[in-house]
Amino acid sequence: MKAVMERDTIKTLTTHYIDGAFIESHGREVMEIIRPTDGEVIGRVTLADEEDTQRAIAAAKRAFATYSRSTKEERAAILRRLHEAASARIDDLTAAMVEEYGGVVKFAGLIVQSGINAFLAAEKALQEIPWTRSWGKTTVTLEPVGVAGLITAWNANALFICLKLASAVAAGCTVVIKPSELSSLQTRVMVEALHEARLPKGLLNVVIGRGNVVGAELVRNPEVAKISFTGSVAVGEQVMRDGAATMKRVTLELGGKSPTILLDDAALDQAIPSALVMAFMNSGQACAAGTRLLVPKSRLGEVKRAIVDAMRDITVGDPADPNIAVGPMVSQKQYERVESFIRKGIEEGAEVLVGGEGHPKGLEAGYFVKPTVFVNVTNNMTIAQEEIFGPVLSVIAYSSEDEAIRIANDSKYGLHAAVLGTDLERARRVASQLQAGRVVINNMTDDPGAPWGGFKYSGVGREYGRYGIEAFVETRAILES
Ligand code: NAD
Repeated sequence: MKAVMERDTIKTLTTHYIDGAFIESHGREVMEIIRPTDGEVIGRVTLADEEDTQRAIAAAKRAFATYSRSTKEERAAILRRLHEAASARIDDLTAAMVEEYGGVVKFAGLIVQSGINAFLAAEKALQEIPWTRSWGKTTVTLEPVGVAGLITAWNANALFICLKLASAVAAGCTVVIKPSELSSLQTRVMVEALHEARLPKGLLNVVIGRGNVVGAELVRNPEVAKISFTGSVAVGEQVMRDGAATMKRVTLELGGKSPTILLDDAALDQAIPSALVMAFMNSGQACAAGTRLLVPKSRLGEVKRAIVDAMRDITVGDPADPNIAVGPMVSQKQYERVESFIRKGIEEGAEVLVGGEGHPKGLEAGYFVKPTVFVNVTNNMTIAQEEIFGPVLSVIAYSSEDEAIRIANDSKYGLHAAVLGTDLERARRVASQLQAGRVVINNMTDDPGAPWGGFKYSGVGREYGRYGIEAFVETRAILES
């Protein structure tokens, strides 16, 4: 019976999207896709090898010869078609993210929508960018950099694909996308959707495979001019190092250990739920997750009580249930990683306020962990310094505003930060001293025109809006005598 069910439900993917068509994989390795809610096999994917990748690069190179000369209006029309094509499959894209990744449905829907919005945001930015500037006998134009390799992480695959593709297309680049292999089923839905946008052949190519095979080929291949990468610091370093051999332009969107500074005038009934949403969004598997909550010593007692109360809303369970806030971790490996950090926190002397080690009761089959809050954390502890990429929040006490700023900046990361308080002027003053690519005041919020990216180990370069498009261009100056 089980075998029959398996046959009925297992999805099998054997093709890559190259030169406008789904082409059988040359690579022969088959990888199983495991559903994180119960550990069952739900898909089998034939992974690409170097030859598949080279074919995709060749197709993108052929397409670049024409597409790089497209007009602003032609690119804008393509972005609108991409938006329309992706919008038509929003429910399927969300469902695939819930099943394959275990993303909670409420948040998965937002991620998919924000990816789809990226096409229109890029169209708007495309209209605003000064593509040509002239003075005297000098003319400066922005030119597409060339074939771009776009490499994504598994925690918001649909968003990364749309965002990077939108910026590249607006700039006049053609692309080869290497999605996370853990996002193969979601990627397939996305590519089927984007195929309907009737793009010029070879503009969009998607090759599913391992990082050290397909990703490495993109990074080393001299026909690829630019790599836009979202993932871990370790792989980001390798991309930068290996890309240097062919002078790759790189954008690196890496990890974070984002601070949320609760100022002493904060209204806890609003500030604590906000802080928890930022810590536990996307089940804590979010680069921007606010995983260090900095609290004034004078208010520590009431903050702890407010956290215990508000954690009742941070429910864990079936990600398809719209009332659930935290789903499973993406894989057994990620489950073990998060558990090992919870153990480490306890060993280093932090105190578990909520949660702790092991599966939540009744959720032993999948990769679920307990949403966990530690108190008595000092900023030098491993759980305050390392990116856990799971639902684990560290509460750190501070004595003065200056000390809060110092602790917030005492991190190798600098991607995102939040300031919570009622005096807006003061919140702004604190925000202006934080080493982070984005700082939100009083709640998690987004603006597709605002840059996204990190200081320090959180990466190199920016995405979104005109900043994202500018990452795919070179300037050319023509000077007449
Ligand atoms: P990862 O670095 O393991 O993998 C990212 C991508 O790189 C995958 O597609 C992978 O196959 C590929 N890859 C692996 N080895 C490669 C190589 N040698 N050459 C080229 N590509 C290679 O990261 P992950 O586990 O998929 O994602 C989690 C990480 O991503 C976290 O650190 C998280 O903070 C970060 N992230 C950052 C942002 C951001 O916007 N800054 C957003 C989401 C996730």
